[in-house]
Amino acid sequence: MHKSVAVVGAGPAGLYLAEVLAKRLAGAQVDVIERLPTPFGLVRGGVAPDHQGTKNIVRQFERTLQRDNVRFHGNVEVGRDVGYEELRQAYDAVVFATGALQDRRLGIPGEALPGVYGSGAFVGWYNGLPDFRDLAPELPGGAVAIIGNGNVALDLARILAKSEAELASSDLCAHARAVLFSARLTDIYLIGRRGPLEATFTPESLAELGALGRAVPLVDSTRIPAAAEGLEPKEQKIKEQNLELLRGFAANRPELKPLRIHLLFQAAPVGVLGTERVEGLRLEHTRLEGGRAEPTGETFELPVSTVITAIGYRSAAIPGLPFDERRGRVANAGGRVEPGVYATGWCRRGPQGVIPANRTDALGVAELVLEDLAERPAGNRPGRPALERLLAERGAEPVSFADWQAINGAESGRAEAGRPREKFTRVEEMLALLGRERTAARTG
Ligand SMILES: Cc1cc2nc3c(=O)[nH]c(=O)nc-3n(C[C@H](O)[C@H](O)[C@H](O)COP(=O)(O)OP(=O)(O)OC[C@H]3O[C@@H](n4cnc5c(N)ncnc54)[C@H](O)[C@@H]3O)c2cc1C
Repeated sequence: MHKSVAVVGAGPAGLYLAEVLAKRLAGAQVDVIERLPTPFGLVRGGVAPDHQGTKNIVRQFERTLQRDNVRFHGNVEVGRDVGYEELRQAYDAVVFATGALQDRRLGIPGEALPGVYGSGAFVGWYNGLPDFRDLAPELPGGAVAIIGNGNVALDLARILAKSEAELASSDLCAHARAVLFSARLTDIYLIGRRGPLEATFTPESLAELGALGRAVPLVDSTRIPAAAEGLEPKEQKIKEQNLELLRGFAANRPELKPLRIHLLFQAAPVGVLGTERVEGLRLEHTRLEGGRAEPTGETFELPVSTVITAIGYRSAAIPGLPFDERRGRVANAGGRVEPGVYATGWCRRGPQGVIPANRTDALGVAELVLEDLAERPAGNRPGRPALERLLAERGAEPVSFADWQAINGAESGRAEAGRPREKFTRVEEMLALLGRERTAARTG
């Protein structure tokens, strides 16, 4: 009998792992189970719509999903369509690669007011994730605050700042284009509690802010340290490049372009202001001590009408799967969760690192799986037939790789000239395209 492995999640971590196992386990069946009808995780739903080059990695992932011993089971959610224990019983090994999509909260008064959005939701909305299709964010114009000092915050600022022409070759979804292109924004505040040296921007992304058609980046030169010191060489170079870019931004004149992007360092949000909806943001200046932000008691207010937080994510708990509540990720020791159960990618180590970092992670976890499987009798679990039986019993509507190719083709086919695709943003739409209807019992 075959050895059977289930990989839960078809994002980079799951697909890098499936590739290694499919190659190294002769005769094994590797089932990739994904809750959406579409594969590729945050490469589709997170990576910015104007960074199409980054999305090219999906070609490699497609080859993995087309391997003879790999099967894609899309539109199948663990915890909804199939349970944790059921999977454990059915497969020789189960690897969770479910990512981290829930926005961390600021924990400040006013955070629940309409007009405050998490970046996972906001980015998911403009990137067409079905979960956030109906977010309908309000962008009444004027000023927007983006809280966070990483590349996701830069992505948000850039997408809000770019003109229609600058996004003409992106796959920004039609419903988002309608809202973003009619928003009359004048100011975008990018807010970090700490300083430029603590920000996790990459120079490439920071530089993009300086090359926008209608927006000018600005920063207070007194917040820019003279040099980056005492870091390991690679890190030091990145920080020095960032400082150089910031010095350039500090010399910009605000009247240069109609939209201003203010990079505010050493400013901690302490309250969202407003009664019915967001009317402003109160912040406190901080001072830096050993890289930590300490309060100064000195506050100020910004008259913003929208707040977007980009301060990190938590994984969703799956009933039965051991979960570390405090850290917001799957409980694991170096990738091992329980006998025969593993975790990799963002759900294992938290929401940090670019796409290739998940390859390194997956290679390590694959070694553990291979090691453990070598010690067990070959293929003593039913694997795929058990999964398919459970899904059939429950009236699930699994989406195969061929089905995904049909969705993919239809998305490209209906795109405006110059755009790579016009995404389907509702599961129902995708199933209808495949000639299926979601059954009444599974509309959740
Ligand atoms: C906004 C944003 C922009 C980014 N931009 C870049 C970039 O430009 N370049 C770069 O290198 N990196 C970027 N990253 C980082 C990159 O996206 C991550 O490193 C990577 O996606 C993490 O991979 P993962 O497989 O762990 O998680 P994910 O990509 O999130 O994949 C997890 C998958 O698991 C599925 N899943 C979840 N729960 C279940 C369940 N219960 N059952 C079945 N399936 C489930 C999800 O639907 C998803 O498809 C960005 C991240 C974000 C948030």
